[in-house]
Amino acid sequence: MSGSPTLPDVWLKRLTEAFETAGAPHSSESLLDAALEQALDLLPGASGEVWFAGPDDGLPDLQVSSGAWRRAREERRGAVHRTLQRHAPRSVHPEPGLFDEGLLLFPFRGTGEVHAALVVEVPGAHAVTREQRLALQTLTDHLAAHLSRRSPGNESSRLRHLGQAAVRINEIQGLQATLDVITEEARALIGAHQAVTSLTVSADWAQAVTAVSMSDKYAPWQSYAVPPDGSGIYALVCQGNTPLRLSQAELEAHPRWRAFGPHAQAHPPMRGWLAVPLVGRDGQNIGLIQLSDRFTGDFTAEDQDVLVQLALVAAARVENARLYDVAQEELRRREQVERDLRALNDGLERRVNERTQQLEVAARQLQDQVNALDGFVAFHEAVGTQTDVLALVQQAAGVIRASLAHVSVAYYERESGLWKARVWSEDILPHVVAQIQAGVPEDAPDFARAVQSEAPVFIDGWEADANSLSSTASYGAVALTPVSTPGGLRGMLAVGTQDARVWTDREQAIVRSVGRSLELALERAEVTSRLQAQNAVLEGFAHLTRDLATQRDPLVIVRRAQEVMLSLLPAGYALYYTPDAGRWRNRVQVGDVGHRDLQAFIDAGPLIGLTPTVDVPWQSRAPYYQDQYARGSDTPPELVTHVSTAASLPVVVRDEVVGVLVMVLFQGRPWTSTDRVVLETVVGSLGLALERAESVALLAQRTEQLESSNAELARSNAELEQFAYVASHDLQAPIRAVTSFASMISRRNGEQLDERGQLYLRHIIDSGEHMKNLVDDLLAFSRLHTQQLAVQPVDSRRVFDTVLHRLSAVPGNEQAQITRTDLPLVLADRQQLDQLLQNLIGNSLKYRRADVLPRVHVSAEADGRMWRFAVKDNGIGIDPRYFDKIFVIFQRLHGRDVYEGTGIGLAVCKKIVERHGGRLWVESTPGEGSTFYFTLPQAPA
Ligand code: ADP
Repeated sequence: MSGSPTLPDVWLKRLTEAFETAGAPHSSESLLDAALEQALDLLPGASGEVWFAGPDDGLPDLQVSSGAWRRAREERRGAVHRTLQRHAPRSVHPEPGLFDEGLLLFPFRGTGEVHAALVVEVPGAHAVTREQRLALQTLTDHLAAHLSRRSPGNESSRLRHLGQAAVRINEIQGLQATLDVITEEARALIGAHQAVTSLTVSADWAQAVTAVSMSDKYAPWQSYAVPPDGSGIYALVCQGNTPLRLSQAELEAHPRWRAFGPHAQAHPPMRGWLAVPLVGRDGQNIGLIQLSDRFTGDFTAEDQDVLVQLALVAAARVENARLYDVAQEELRRREQVERDLRALNDGLERRVNERTQQLEVAARQLQDQVNALDGFVAFHEAVGTQTDVLALVQQAAGVIRASLAHVSVAYYERESGLWKARVWSEDILPHVVAQIQAGVPEDAPDFARAVQSEAPVFIDGWEADANSLSSTASYGAVALTPVSTPGGLRGMLAVGTQDARVWTDREQAIVRSVGRSLELALERAEVTSRLQAQNAVLEGFAHLTRDLATQRDPLVIVRRAQEVMLSLLPAGYALYYTPDAGRWRNRVQVGDVGHRDLQAFIDAGPLIGLTPTVDVPWQSRAPYYQDQYARGSDTPPELVTHVSTAASLPVVVRDEVVGVLVMVLFQGRPWTSTDRVVLETVVGSLGLALERAESVALLAQRTEQLESSNAELARSNAELEQFAYVASHDLQAPIRAVTSFASMISRRNGEQLDERGQLYLRHIIDSGEHMKNLVDDLLAFSRLHTQQLAVQPVDSRRVFDTVLHRLSAVPGNEQAQITRTDLPLVLADRQQLDQLLQNLIGNSLKYRRADVLPRVHVSAEADGRMWRFAVKDNGIGIDPRYFDKIFVIFQRLHGRDVYEGTGIGLAVCKKIVERHGGRLWVESTPGEGSTFYFTLPQAPA
């Protein structure tokens, strides 16, 4: 600063202070303000302002202003303009305190051209002393020098400023704040009135204006925010990511400059333009910084360089800020998610706790079940397919003792009002065994309670005396489990522990489980043994039935029954007694009786009435079971010490007891219901088989009788036939002799005889004739039996025609009408068929009604595999009473004087038809006519 002797020291001091305090990098305006304030301090009542030369039109621009002006701003601008013009060429050293148009004007000297001035309006301006003017000019010179040092052209200051700006920009968080600072710093750094930072929002380079910084000069637009579209000049900057620096004239001449059009009001007027792109890390444009209206002159290349530097920092910062915002957003989102999660978690935790508790309960239950299942499985593995009750109980006891430490187990069964131990674990002391074997009364309270509840009873704190089991006093806790099957209560499983007086859940579960398993196993055993018994019985029956069906000997049948029974029972023997002269005779025996003397006793025949085992069922007709054989009742007891069990059953045939079957077992064994069913069923079958055998025997006997009488008959028949044949054959010659000699006598000597002699002779001839017919017919009949049948397909129509021809020739038949339908082909002996038709049609003609023209019609109809022929006449008919009789040989209904005949014809017909496998019968109405039907086999087609 070049000092001035006329400037009071105090001013300088104050001015320097003001410059110092206003020395903040971005506040040229406040520097001007401070200078103006100092200036006005010298001239009381004055108004003052600082004008800078405008860049293009030459009109000065107002920078700062203070005081109450009399003249309007435009008027002042004009005065300043004219004064500066007047002193043009702008002198480097113009006159200090130019006074013009009522204004004092102090030009900024020393910067080459005068482009700014401090302007003061003061009432009574002429009173301003020269000292005052010099002082103000000195002040102005200081200001100019200071500004010039601070001006954007000052490299080191700018670099420092850029560094500070970068620091400030980097200190800010958040996108909007960052953009605001960038814009502010850019305007201050370069020294311009307008700065705008906008961000690219779309591919066509449309921008969102996000930060605006305006000096006081553009106060009305400080909140301007009209977003430019993508087609303006700045799009060039974004597109190419290249800075653009234009004077106002260049700007307006630029083809992409589109002015503001309808937005002119909203937009501050432009005055030169510097725009640099904001380029992202990836080289993509993210926006631009625009400056307009440089404080002094146009934007320089240096401005551009500096702004590009700032833009580098700014772009990075914007991206960071954006990321920061995104991160913040993400953070907020995460926090929200976290809050939501926490809320969820709280609920979840509560639910998890609840569920955990439930699961714990379930787990405990499960454990109980597992315990129970373990017992169950162990038991089932142990028993396998075992079906013996006591063996099963033994296994159950073993499983319980393996699962529960230090327990004793006993299994009781009921017997005559007592619970008696049948199985017990080996740890039980002898005196205790003795007591439990002897039995506990059924009404012992805990036993009774278990029976009544039909469920295990767990007694914590066992009272031995109360249950009549004083010897078990050392047991602290006892469990009584009733064991039942569908057949009813089977036993009582008792478990005792000396260790504790209380049962735990687990122990209870195991006891229950094994108890239940035992029940199931017993049930299975029952079912199995029942099935086995049934199977065995069924098999036995199958054998028995098969054997018995082919057997006729009753004793063999009894033996089979005994064998079947013994095969289904434990070792023993079977006897079958029938009564015989006051003694029981052992008729069939299976198995050794096991004692020689006993066998001798049996063979000798025990006395009826002194042998209850046999007597009782014989008398009562009911089975007699001795679970424990009454030794000595039947025999001397010493003979049967080895016999334990007996059953004797009556064998009933046709409702009559025929014998007693005795089953004897060596082993002691109650007769079970299955045993009884088996025994009774087998004995029942035995009775039926015997009955059947009897019937078969009877039948055989009858058949034999019949066969022999048949043979006899056949023999006599044959003899008879032989006789008939011989007789008729041998009779023919003498008969012929008698008749021919009688005829001869009649012819030759008939006239010599008197009337009586002639009558006798005629009788002889007639009888001879009849005799001849008889013999002929008889011969024909007997021949039917001896002759072989020559069966072949025969056309019955032709046979009929032959017969018709023959009969028509017989005198008296000339008028008769003998007709037929179309007759079939039959399987027959032609000659016999001829004889059959001859006899039937002949009879129809013979037994005609007087005065009625005889009519005979022969027809045939199919009847299954036969033809049914009908020979129908209109003769005298036959009384139904004689329908059978007429087919019997020699049976006639009329005297020979009325109708000639031998009574053989129909018998011959019947024989013929029957020999062909057919049938002959008659239907008739006396006085109307008869129809004879016969059937013959059809000839194969
Ligand atoms: P016969 O030699 O008497 O004809 P058959 O055995 O042929 O002997 O007949 C037995 C009897 O059946 C005859 O005596 C007759 O009374 C009766 N008879 C048979 N055919 C006829 C018929 N077509 N009409 C009525 N009666 C008949």
